[in-house]
Amino acid sequence: MTLLTVSDLAKTFGTGDTATHVLRGLNLTLDKGEMAALLGPSGSGKSTLLTILGTLMQPTSGAHQMLGVDLIRATDAALTTFRNEHIGFVFQFHNLLPDFTALENVIFPTAIRNGRETAAARARGADLLTRMGLAERIHFPSANLSGGQKQRVAVARALMNAPELVLADEPTGNLDRASALQVMELIAQINRDEGTTFLISTHDEKIAATCKRQIVVGDGVVTG
Ligand code: ADP
Ligand code: MG
Repeated sequence: MTLLTVSDLAKTFGTGDTATHVLRGLNLTLDKGEMAALLGPSGSGKSTLLTILGTLMQPTSGAHQMLGVDLIRATDAALTTFRNEHIGFVFQFHNLLPDFTALENVIFPTAIRNGRETAAARARGADLLTRMGLAERIHFPSANLSGGQKQRVAVARALMNAPELVLADEPTGNLDRASALQVMELIAQINRDEGTTFLISTHDEKIAATCKRQIVVGDGVVTG
């Protein structure tokens, strides 16, 4: 079943002589439950595509639908609600609050949005951290965690609202290979257990090879 489609997607930054045509008619469909790597050299538009798929930026032109919703015509308020309900994000720089525990970092965004922190949210956060191999680290300040552990906290945070789609922008970019592979294995386990769709950008082919599907971008389109 289709989760999202973009067609003839274009994104140009700037105008006139300084215009940068980053996406040039890109087509992509992701099915529910896919685990896909987004490959391409630096500057090929991976982050731009993920930002658009995450509804954080509008394309210059093209179509974008997810879960049957036309996201090009949606209002900003509708996009915010849609994003909060259906999309999780993991970035290269985990952006954890260093003085707060792993669990607090996982549940804070949801608690702030809902205006309160519930026992159910704490339970879900602890369960996700356990599934990310961090049962012993739930109450550790995030500053005391290793790079790989921090990135696993960031994955748990992205999963908090049970999104259908998680967009991860070079989540293993700062990790050594062993930690990177461990993060990928734990993500694969969530993908298998929950059917969450993952799109994970990387310029590392060994990391990409751990995903079931590899999507390659170049010259502003999908090339493979
Ligand atoms: P990747 O993530 O594959 O490295 P990006 O999507 O970050 O690629 O960038 C693709 C191109 O778009 C680069 O040439 C970059 O300089 C340009 N670009 C990205 N964001 C902006 C922006 N906000 N303004 C102008 N140019 C941008
Ligand atoms: Mg990038």
